[in-house]
Amino acid sequence: MTKKNLFFISLIAISSLFLGCGKSIFTSIPQQKQMGMKVRDEILAKPSEFPVLDEKAHPQAYAYLRKITSNVLNSGKLAHRNDFDWEVRIINDDKTLNAFCTPGGYIFVYTGLIKYLDNEDQLAGVMGHEMGHADKEHSARTMEKQMGLGIVAQLAGAVVTEQLSQLTATFLSLKYSRDYEKEADAASVDYLSATKYQCNGAAGFFVKLEAAGGARQPEFLSTHPAPENRIKNINTKAEGLKCTAKPATITEYQAFKRMLPGTVK
Ligand SMILES: [Zn+2]
Repeated sequence: MTKKNLFFISLIAISSLFLGCGKSIFTSIPQQKQMGMKVRDEILAKPSEFPVLDEKAHPQAYAYLRKITSNVLNSGKLAHRNDFDWEVRIINDDKTLNAFCTPGGYIFVYTGLIKYLDNEDQLAGVMGHEMGHADKEHSARTMEKQMGLGIVAQLAGAVVTEQLSQLTATFLSLKYSRDYEKEADAASVDYLSATKYQCNGAAGFFVKLEAAGGARQPEFLSTHPAPENRIKNINTKAEGLKCTAKPATITEYQAFKRMLPGTVK
């Protein structure tokens, strides 16, 4: 056995001890941030695929979304509140019901999702879910599983365009495990419980999807497996936390929708 083989075998042995511990040991927090920045930059470099709304042209819409992000962050319940950047961007695509957050906290929300939802509680709930995936390092850990341990960390430092495309493509096609989905749903309730929002806000989104009866298979469900009892689990956790927030008024949210292109003013 060569020294190199021995090294990799030890690495695998050590990794199996740590993989269940809720952290990535192969991709450090700075590497996750670096990786997220690269994914963000690649997304921004492809405006035909990801038509990100220009902040200069839509300052109020961005201010509104940033306020929601700050409210969630200020819950004080995120482990990487100060480690990650938590930037937020709007993708102008009304057909896509989705939002995602890269490792390191670069959040993207589609206009399709914003327009589909009814109020700020629901949007804060879905954003809390996505932020939970980043904060709990789900994306780095899932990518490690798909691409191989150590590769993700190496790619975080990659400068070769081809490798970066691989990193972004892998991130965008990630399917989180049911356990991670459950954990992100629970994180959303937990974060929102320390804000002005109703802490089961995310459930409102799933209730709407269910009511629509699957006539429109949303992007969110293709990247997020839908575990059974998702609504029930969110509501049970919210009840357990004794959340008492009143529903958000819809006036402000309606005004937010009107700030976006393509909405009837
Ligand atoms: Zn998810």
